[in-house]
Amino acid sequence: MLLIDCPHCGPRDEVEFHYGGQAHVAYPEDPYALTDAQWAEFLFYRDNPRGPFAERWQHGVGCRKWFNAIRDTASYEFLAVYPMGAQPPHEYAHLVSGSPAVAPAGPASPGASPSGPASPGASPSGPASPGASPTGPTPSSPSASSTESGSDSA
Ligand SMILES: [Zn+2]
Repeated sequence: MLLIDCPHCGPRDEVEFHYGGQAHVAYPEDPYALTDAQWAEFLFYRDNPRGPFAERWQHGVGCRKWFNAIRDTASYEFLAVYPMGAQPPHEYAHLVSGSPAVAPAGPASPGASPSGPASPGASPSGPASPGASPTGPTPSSPSASSTESGSDSA
């Protein structure tokens, strides 16, 4: 039987608690800007480390309050508990990634955005020359060639 140290009530049996998953998973700033894949990643994808892990727990049978804990997933040892909204102790600050409250000076999130190159104004389509666009396969508009006068300028 584990003793879990509720920050509000003190040590209690583990049966009084509910596990709430990974802590510090920030809600997207603009949920409507996310792709389906990004939304699915926010909803379902969580870290699964061996060792210290930042988790949410609820003291459901006691004070019913949520709190955060650092737990070693290999030994089940609770290394730290701290209130919701707070940051973990300094020695475990590296476990929290992508938290807006923590702004490290180093590399924030290496390789976090696989969205590819986004260079504004660098359109690779080249100079726009009217009339030079190939008509290509347009089987749905048989009368399109007669209405455009400048399509055959050479
Ligand atoms: Zn409690």
